[in-house]
Amino acid sequence: MSGLLFQGVEGVGDLSASFRSEALEGHGFSRANMEFKSEAAALAAEGIPALERNFPQGLKPGGIFSAADGTAKAMPFQSAGTPALLLTTDHCSPTTVAADDKLREECGVIAIHGHPDAARQAYLGLYALQHRGQESAGIATADGQHLANIKGMGLVSEIFTDDVLAKLPGPMAIGHTRYSTTGDSALLNAQPIRVDSTKGLIAIAHNGNLVNLGNVRARLERDGAYFQTTSDSEIIVQLIAHSKAGTLVDCIADSLGQVEGAFSIVMMTRDRIFAARDPRGFRPLSMGRIKNADGPDTIVFASESCAFDLLRATYERDVLPGELVMVTEDGVTSRQYASGVPQSSCIFEHVYFARPDSRIFGRWVQESRDQMGRQLARESAVSADVVVPVPDSGVTAALGYAEEAGLPFRMGLIRNHYVGRTFIEPEQRVRDFGVRLKLNPVRNLLEGKRVILIDDSIIRGTTSRKIVRMVRGAGAKEVHLRISCPPTVSPCFYGVDTPSKRDLIAAQKSIEEIRQFIEADSLSYLSLGGLLNCCVGEEPVGYCTACYTGNYPTQWVDVEEILPAAAAV
Ligand code: SF4
Repeated sequence: MSGLLFQGVEGVGDLSASFRSEALEGHGFSRANMEFKSEAAALAAEGIPALERNFPQGLKPGGIFSAADGTAKAMPFQSAGTPALLLTTDHCSPTTVAADDKLREECGVIAIHGHPDAARQAYLGLYALQHRGQESAGIATADGQHLANIKGMGLVSEIFTDDVLAKLPGPMAIGHTRYSTTGDSALLNAQPIRVDSTKGLIAIAHNGNLVNLGNVRARLERDGAYFQTTSDSEIIVQLIAHSKAGTLVDCIADSLGQVEGAFSIVMMTRDRIFAARDPRGFRPLSMGRIKNADGPDTIVFASESCAFDLLRATYERDVLPGELVMVTEDGVTSRQYASGVPQSSCIFEHVYFARPDSRIFGRWVQESRDQMGRQLARESAVSADVVVPVPDSGVTAALGYAEEAGLPFRMGLIRNHYVGRTFIEPEQRVRDFGVRLKLNPVRNLLEGKRVILIDDSIIRGTTSRKIVRMVRGAGAKEVHLRISCPPTVSPCFYGVDTPSKRDLIAAQKSIEEIRQFIEADSLSYLSLGGLLNCCVGEEPVGYCTACYTGNYPTQWVDVEEILPAAAAV
């Protein structure tokens, strides 16, 4: 069953404003049909019963929009729905997954306050955060009077040449690098977003994903808000514009309190920088400082602390979950706009997304990954001759595994770092080719050996099978695959591009069935308890592990539970 499921507290829903348009691509819909402003007409043009904006035919809180085999209709259903959340089913997220079959982080953000060449600093910071998004990037700067903003498609270094940076004056900057699905709206939704609001000019850049955007957006539109983009971030700016709180910082705090989901945000007005994390602290956001001998310090915020090194900034601390930090000429002030919500930082940042040279959630990523490898060796030892990582992300865990197991570590697979996205368009035939383009075995290290391969995830399984075949084809006698996290069984709704549940091999098959599918001699995953132990530093941290457990920290309703109810209507 294909579909999108909605719940709205007010009993109405704006279908097009609520769904992720990418979800219907490949199901008989073109992107043109998904634009927010033309929903009813466009749906009708597809042969779908025209749906009026507020669903007069009775899409009560909860409803299914079925998009199977290119047809669609709205069906009311009875459900004890209470939370006001957008719910999505198996193809709720963009499904374009690159050739190496990894989950994709959607964004990285940077902010600079008090530097004579803030744009260049933001550029360097984004350069260090490029792994968090390669499809678009943007920098906005402010000089006290004006707010300039330049965005483009491509890598940071391709967009921001010297000439372009020269058009971004001022001592303050925010920047953003984004991974998104391809499509016409990609540049439109590139960030920072600059909005001329009733509260003045505001630029915003956001890492994460709001989960109640449909309801909030519909309410704002009824109140007269006009959206320029389909981005979550603009919802926050519109909430700020519509807030009745007294000061701008109160308006921001008020707005952040109304949205649910994952967001690490940097914002800029003509003369101030703001940085905030959602109350659960899903995505990382750190604060750093550059000491200036002849003036106030430069304050820096970045998704990951690895960005500080290039700027010669010193890591100071993490922005706390539920914290809103403001930087002005007078210095740094902070407030907790939300408290009492359990922390659920994304554990997959430690497993895969973040760079090993970053310190996130109070712990070095390198340390966590090394421990994951060691724990994996303790949990799933096997007789072998060499430990080989699937580069690059499996390297640190493989080093830990090899050391713990007392086995030699060998770079038996070499990654070509110069393969562009040309080869990772979502056509199966091309994707297969992409794996071979990206990885090549080192035959003399593998021939006749019993090999333990270390990787950080199996998503669909097809890539893992190709890698196992590749290693065996290079002469390995045995191939034992070890994964440095538990099986990925559920999609992410918090800013990570995940395939649908039906495409997650661990959601469909047992570990033994996966082993057979990928043709390994043995297969083991790190246990959840083992993973959690590996990611805790000096301070206790609450982690989201929903992609391994299906237990979402925000209020979600399992679509499987209500589908029978829908079918009965
Ligand atoms: Fe991270 Fe997984 Fe939670 Fe998403 S569901 S935030 S990827 S741990």
